[in-house]
Amino acid sequence: MNRIIYADNAATTPVLPEVLQAMTPFYCESYGNPSSIFYSVGADARRALDEARRSMADSLGCLPEEVYFTSCGTEADNWALKGAARRMARQGKKHLITSSIEHHAVLHSMKALEREGFEVTYLPVDGQGFVRPRDLEDALRPDTGLVSIMFANNEIGTIEPVEQLCAIAHSHGAWFHTDAVQAVGAVPVRFGQMGFDLLSLSAHKFNGPKGVGALLVRKGVLPDVFLDGGGQERGRRAGTENLAGIAGMAKALELAVTGMEEKSRRLAALRDTVQRHVQAMEQVKVNGPEDPAFRLPGTLNVSFAGAESESILLFLDMAGICASSGSACASGSLDPSHVLLAIGLSHALANCSLRLSFGVQNTPEDAQAICRALDSAVAEVRRRSAIW
Ligand code: PLP
Repeated sequence: MNRIIYADNAATTPVLPEVLQAMTPFYCESYGNPSSIFYSVGADARRALDEARRSMADSLGCLPEEVYFTSCGTEADNWALKGAARRMARQGKKHLITSSIEHHAVLHSMKALEREGFEVTYLPVDGQGFVRPRDLEDALRPDTGLVSIMFANNEIGTIEPVEQLCAIAHSHGAWFHTDAVQAVGAVPVRFGQMGFDLLSLSAHKFNGPKGVGALLVRKGVLPDVFLDGGGQERGRRAGTENLAGIAGMAKALELAVTGMEEKSRRLAALRDTVQRHVQAMEQVKVNGPEDPAFRLPGTLNVSFAGAESESILLFLDMAGICASSGSACASGSLDPSHVLLAIGLSHALANCSLRLSFGVQNTPEDAQAICRALDSAVAEVRRRSAIW
């Protein structure tokens, strides 16, 4: 059996050994509840929690008290949007703005808010997936409470001009949230300096464990409480903390931030090897920014006209290669990706699109093997296709 080549790192990533090592003490040894501070096991847990928060703050350029731990990126997005929207509604601001290419954690939260009576504007994007600052200017109104635009797109890797968009939102009195789930650990993110009010992240995208994330909340910004219960997270996010997960997330982020430049160069080289190869094939379209500086270093999204992605994925799987036809949450459904439709692809071409996303474990040999497998998979699928 061939070694598995995992090229779906935008869906999730493997936990690094150092990260697992940082997590294990909190299962059977330091298993105390961080709220039980009157005996040593609990106090040890509290110290570890405080230390993880400090480490996360260092890695992200924010204050420790601006870090709120959550159960995942989806929870952070839900809290940011629903918490901020409900808070701003009490000042009479019931209009929200987002983009049409957000993750479903944002889009479905916005739909839920529409059912609560909020009005939402969905900004279009250009052919490379960029939100145009001019469109945001035009959409802002005196009653806009919150703008939420993702830092980097999970399907095509577009890195949005979020600092500029944030400044525009602020100049109209609106809060700015960014879903940075794909960006944190991949590109530099400095929360304080960039001016955001709210930022979501998730550990499993940067070689941390699944089921843990964080919402950064700028000091002085107070979204409504989302989970009611005990007094954890300064009374703003109830629930006993996932200490092992949090310790793993802090370690994973520290490693990601320390080695970021080198890792980016390596991932971009793998991405560009495969990109150059597929661009030499017949009727291929690379989706996302033309300038690789504005695309996530490890992400490549390609459409192979006449070759449906579900079929290509089966051939790749037989060669031991894991890739994706879009976002993991949407795969398994035959609906074409909303992101690819938003950048102007036809339904037919969107259904012939593949996302390859590289991670720290991938090698130049993996990239070569992917190129060879794509040659035969695309040729074979097109040979059998009724639409080619
Ligand atoms: N936002 C983006 C951009 C994502 O890519 C994802 C996961 O794919 C999420 C949010 C959801 O994060 P989680 O899987 O931690 O709930």
